[in-house]
Amino acid sequence: MIKYRLICKNCNLSFDSWFASSFEYEKLKTKKFLSCHYCDSKKIEKTLMAPKILSKTKKVNEKKLKLNQINEKIKEYQKFIKDNFEYVGDNFTYEARSIHYNKKKKEKNIYGTASNEEIKELKEEGIETEVIPWIENKNN
Ligand SMILES: [Zn+2]
Repeated sequence: MIKYRLICKNCNLSFDSWFASSFEYEKLKTKKFLSCHYCDSKKIEKTLMAPKILSKTKKVNEKKLKLNQINEKIKEYQKFIKDNFEYVGDNFTYEARSIHYNKKKKEKNIYGTASNEEIKELKEEGIETEVIPWIENKNN
């Protein structure tokens, strides 16, 4: 469904009307099925809904801004982890288990990748992990 603001070229009345698609609007217009609510003229034109378009753009920008802020936070978090944690990659579940069960004297922080299933298994064994969103930095 698409909403168009239509304007009557005869009496200048503008009104909103719903169409299944822009194609349907064109079809109805060509067949002269569109008429003015007030003067019944067939001189109906589609107008651009400028205010709606503006508010939509604003919302998108706000969303983009928020996303950027979140991305910045994640990047900060990633930097902290990279500086303080040891990267173990796909060995994450193995390393997490060996730390947990062998009670290694020197506790080390690790980070790596694990599937949801693996994380669930670790949790069941009492190994708490934290899942964080990760942005791959293509420049690295
Ligand atoms: Zn009219």
